Amino acid sequence: MNVLVVNCGSSSLKYQLINMENESVIAKGLVERIGIDGSNIVQKVPGKDDYKIEKPLKDHVEAATLMFSTLTDSTHGAVKSLDEISAIGHRVLHGGMKFTESVLVDDKVKDVIKECFDLGPLHNPANLMGIEACEKNAPGKKNVAVFDTTFGMSMEEKAYLYAIPYEYFEKYSIRRYGFHGTSHMFVSRETIKFGNLKPDAKVIVCHLGNGASISASIGGKCVDTSMGLTPLEGLVMGTRSGDLDPAIVQYISHKENKNVDEVLNILNKKSGLLGLSGISSDCRDISKKLAEKDPGAVRTYNVMLYRIAKYIGAYMVALAGCDAISFTAGIGENDIAIRKAVCDYLSFLGVKIDDERNNIRGEARLISTDDSKIKVFLMPTNEELMIARETLRLAK
Ligand code: ADP
Repeated sequence: MNVLVVNCGSSSLKYQLINMENESVIAKGLVERIGIDGSNIVQKVPGKDDYKIEKPLKDHVEAATLMFSTLTDSTHGAVKSLDEISAIGHRVLHGGMKFTESVLVDDKVKDVIKECFDLGPLHNPANLMGIEACEKNAPGKKNVAVFDTTFGMSMEEKAYLYAIPYEYFEKYSIRRYGFHGTSHMFVSRETIKFGNLKPDAKVIVCHLGNGASISASIGGKCVDTSMGLTPLEGLVMGTRSGDLDPAIVQYISHKENKNVDEVLNILNKKSGLLGLSGISSDCRDISKKLAEKDPGAVRTYNVMLYRIAKYIGAYMVALAGCDAISFTAGIGENDIAIRKAVCDYLSFLGVKIDDERNNIRGEARLISTDDSKIKVFLMPTNEELMIARETLRLAK
């Protein structure tokens, strides 16, 4: 049984076709520049040369037509016909408070995705276009929506409410939702499986990529997570500030003569590693400069690490303990020094990193010593596989 996983952006469509018998990827591709000059698709099939086609694509429906014809291409494709694709799973950013689980798509589900356009203005419209494009191109196939926000739906009120007038929650659903949910769900569950932990293990997942977030879960169910109403809250990210005093918005607005939208744009796109260092939003560039003791790199590194460690401490209290900490995403999976430096903050709790075990990138592994009080893992994330597993479960 093959499951197609689709992730649509406003001008892109990413896909993976996964054989669920052994969870192997049999094709992956990217359609870019949909609706603009230079539209193209690049598809990779293991054992074959990469296949690229440039062709004008006016919308996501045409992009999906090209995806399906490329997947079934007699020379460059991965399957003979659409019959070999059993179901389609879609990444959807925001499900609001309506969905506590992934769902089979029907008209009501599409209406809710639309109702959530306000909450996910950049992603939800594109995600819905992707679903409708697949429905048009592959009629009769089951489509499943896997929301980035459902993981956070198990948070209790005390974790998800902001201390602002309650009517804003009632009127506008302003609360903490959390994002990267599919990744946190995957990594927390894989940590329990891989680490042979008890089913109700308390796990803290540090998803450290360009976007970064951290979650606390029990038995793979979210207790707390660092992103909020939007992905701006929480850790220091590539270009996002993470937590700050909201009065800063007004202060910058007055001092720099900018409106709220312009200040928010600065907090989302020009802050974080980029803003603090003045070097780059890419952690590798900061690490390089750190070796030269560049003051921008030093302060950025320190603020980033301290914030992660502080959240881990808070989440240990939220969970009333912790069995395991897992590092994932671009930085978490690759940056040996950052994993070590975060765990150094936790040494007073008996957390000990084994430098030899930690000397690895991109592979699931226990990286703490045998006598560490809390197990620490490197656990690569795989959102596509999580979406495929959810799709298989619901489409069966
Ligand atoms: P996103 O999916 O949020 O765009 P990623 O998970 O791809 O982000 O992570 C991007 C981050 O990972 C960048 O800051 C980059 O510097 C870092 N990264 C990627 N590869 C490495 C590496 N080999 N060593 C250290 N950092 C890395």
